[in-house]
Amino acid sequence: MVSSQDFDKFLAARAAALVRENFSDRGITNLLVVKWGGKWRGKLGHIRPLENAEYGSVIEINSLLKSLEVPEYVLDYVLMHELTHYFQGFGSNHTRKHKHPHKGKIVEKELARHGWEEITQKAEKWIKENWKDFFKNSRMN
Ligand SMILES: [Zn+2]
Repeated sequence: MVSSQDFDKFLAARAAALVRENFSDRGITNLLVVKWGGKWRGKLGHIRPLENAEYGSVIEINSLLKSLEVPEYVLDYVLMHELTHYFQGFGSNHTRKHKHPHKGKIVEKELARHGWEEITQKAEKWIKENWKDFFKNSRMN
């Protein structure tokens, strides 16, 4: 049986690997916590300051993404989306160069810079085509 600690370790390791592979030039500048969050219907992840942004940041990932039915690239995509917010200074102490976290497709542009265009498209397609039903079914289990 897989314990919840195994899932926690898996998530932390995945996040650390994505930081290493994509943002090694930027650096983690506060206490960054990455953990599983609620089984939300309307969002897959979010980031917020921990106490305050100088001290730390918390990224929470929708716990439903633990399911084997959700492709791994969807989890990676959601982590990368939240990490991009982190490095763009939203919910973190990195320098903020934009007023709004989503306007002007700044996340998409950052993901593309790291070569994530294809995964972004694949993940968004999966979410668009499957999330509603997947969510509905997972509530019944
Ligand atoms: Zn976002």
